[in-house]
Amino acid sequence: MIPEIALSLEATVMPKPGEYIADSTEAITRVEDLPKPKIVRRNRCYRRRPCPRCGRSAYRLRRVERTLHDLGDSVSGRPRDLHVTYSAHRCPRCNGYFNADMADLAPPKGHYTQRVVAMAVRLVVEDGLPYRAASWHLWRDHRVFVPFATVQNWVEASGKKS
Ligand SMILES: [Zn+2]
Repeated sequence: MIPEIALSLEATVMPKPGEYIADSTEAITRVEDLPKPKIVRRNRCYRRRPCPRCGRSAYRLRRVERTLHDLGDSVSGRPRDLHVTYSAHRCPRCNGYFNADMADLAPPKGHYTQRVVAMAVRLVVEDGLPYRAASWHLWRDHRVFVPFATVQNWVEASGKKS
């Protein structure tokens, strides 16, 4: 299929219910042509936080930024990234370093939000999709690119698949 024709036709013709519509990114071969992510800011930056080891209040050492890939916007077809600013602290009593808690947003050290992890696990465990199909579904319907090996790691870590 010629990409220009495919894209312009699908953008203008209103689909009937249940009609097959090709994915609008199907003919795109260059990464820079993919839709730009919508950036959403989240703040987890605090002046002081209690130390998770000893409970002593610890001042902020610095501000850090982290990008998390979230479920995208299915209406506009754009991916969605969270830019999280968070505070890193050092405890004056036990000298331990720790970050402001953001486990509600994402697992530690991960690049995806909890919403993406939960959706991926559900696709495999509840809907029975193979890992590769789950990875494709996440991109096609939720505009988040997750390598299938990452989906597999999440499912195995969740302990929900026999
Ligand atoms: Zn401490």
